[in-house]
Amino acid sequence: MRAAVFEAFQGNITIQNIKDPVPKCDGAVVKVNATGLCRSDWHGWMGHDTAIKLPHVPGHELAGTIEAIGKDVNNFNIGDRITVPFVSGCGLCGECKSGNHQVCDYHSQPGFTHHGSFAEYVALDYADTNLVLLPEEIDDVTAQPLAVDL
Ligand SMILES: [Zn+2]
Ligand SMILES: [Zn+2]
Repeated sequence: MRAAVFEAFQGNITIQNIKDPVPKCDGAVVKVNATGLCRSDWHGWMGHDTAIKLPHVPGHELAGTIEAIGKDVNNFNIGDRITVPFVSGCGLCGECKSGNHQVCDYHSQPGFTHHGSFAEYVALDYADTNLVLLPEEIDDVTAQPLAVDL
């Protein structure tokens, strides 16, 4: 797939062909329909986030269509149009069970813990816990910045 990649913090971002993502057992791969750019992406590019391993694909505010799902995903299907919160909690730990997914020790964060949505496809983990089905009346461009506050 094609993706926007940086190989050094504060370095150039170039369009490259990289390996297609595959879903984890509890995850999904989404075809990106729209993606936003925010200051968190800038922090990542600056080198302020220790989770980021180079080379890296940024992007976390996205709306897309599910292209593939892992075998343990029950609540979503290929073809579903979704968005996802800024931090995807595991759904199982104490913090997640108390509603604090944003501070989950096992969290996953596209564009930070793994390659993000400035690409044709993005892998999203813990799909059943985090993906949000988009209603027909909310289009992709409108939906993608909502990913910040979910
Ligand atoms: Zn953001
Ligand atoms: Zn958790």
